[in-house]
Amino acid sequence: MKLHEFQAKQVLARAGVAIPEGRTATTPEEVEAAAIALGLPVVVKAQVHVGGRGKAGGVKLAKTAAEAKAHAMAILGMDIKGLTVRTIYVERAAKIAKELYLGITIDRDRRRAVVMLSTVGGMDIEEVAATQPGKIARSWPDPTLGLRAYAARALCFEAGVPEAQRDAVAGIARQLYDVFRATDAMTIEINPLFIQEDGTVVAGDAKLEVDDNAMYRQPELATYKEIAPDEEQEERAKALGFSYVQLDGTVGIIGNGAGLVMSTLDAVKNAGGSAANFLDVGGGAKESVVKAALEIVLANPRVKAIFINIFGGITRGDEVAKGILAVLRDTKPKVPLVIRLSGTEAEAGRALLEGAPLVSRTTMDEAAAEAVRLAT
Ligand code: GDP
Ligand code: MN
Repeated sequence: MKLHEFQAKQVLARAGVAIPEGRTATTPEEVEAAAIALGLPVVVKAQVHVGGRGKAGGVKLAKTAAEAKAHAMAILGMDIKGLTVRTIYVERAAKIAKELYLGITIDRDRRRAVVMLSTVGGMDIEEVAATQPGKIARSWPDPTLGLRAYAARALCFEAGVPEAQRDAVAGIARQLYDVFRATDAMTIEINPLFIQEDGTVVAGDAKLEVDDNAMYRQPELATYKEIAPDEEQEERAKALGFSYVQLDGTVGIIGNGAGLVMSTLDAVKNAGGSAANFLDVGGGAKESVVKAALEIVLANPRVKAIFINIFGGITRGDEVAKGILAVLRDTKPKVPLVIRLSGTEAEAGRALLEGAPLVSRTTMDEAAAEAVRLAT
């Protein structure tokens, strides 16, 4: 789960990291009022769950309140990488002398967190990593010790942080590491970390992504959860108890059992197609469950054909067939259905489906090939 910049900054501020004064707004008038209350100049910043807002025109400096209002009018409703801006964060502008990068993520090879610091901040850190890898200093704290003071100072030396800011930056790195651990974060980033003209150091931006599997022990952060339009199906599926993962292909997939569904994804891939989702209805799925699963897959506008792959053990073919018939009757899907039924009561199921507007195949590969053909 991703937090917005203003939310991440609140978390950082509570841990002692200096942040510029700011407030959120949802209308141009509120932005104008906030600019006056905070004192000018201000930065007007789009709050969306993607990086690169600056380049997309979602971060603007304003010297007057009228200018702040005008920027707000341009930014509210703006589309940034497919996300619509609904909230703006207005911040007292920093007086920038230098922009640093400070971030922590998981290094899977080392099975540890890696703390990264660079004096080439502000821009795409991925680009710095690719073109000037020597410009990023790294440290891998022992998880039982945390980021020790000496290690944080060594990191500042290696990165080439100016002497006057070394202690401040080392301190922020340690605070950031504590937040990383305390929030079960997968990634935490301050880019840029500003060194201001007066020598003080403040967080110019903040990104915090929390591990979804840890949400049960992060009740406070869970209140920040927003469901994006493309996550609605996943949330609905989760509520119904399905394992559902949205993918970016065109063949909708329904199967029973995680292993079978994974092989179904492979079969579709082998047939030259791409799966639109992973959906496991679980064992013993009844008519209503199959119907609900089909409706979730059908709600994905990318789906061009659906492949239902059922190997009946405790799941009965006749129950599956009834669920499919119910959908055909009630929602009249506009995309073709391909079904492969085998195992328990498969014959009874196939008999029920006789004459229904769908394609039935006896093997998984035949059915996959047919679904891919119909989806293209
Ligand atoms: P991102 O593009 O989504 O990463 O958004 P950032 O919050 O990092 O802002 C992008 C850029 O806007 C920064 O690298 C700065 O150059 C600039 N910027 C952000 N805040 C301020 C500020 O307070 N003052 C000034 N002068 N520039 C800022
Ligand atoms: Mn940034």
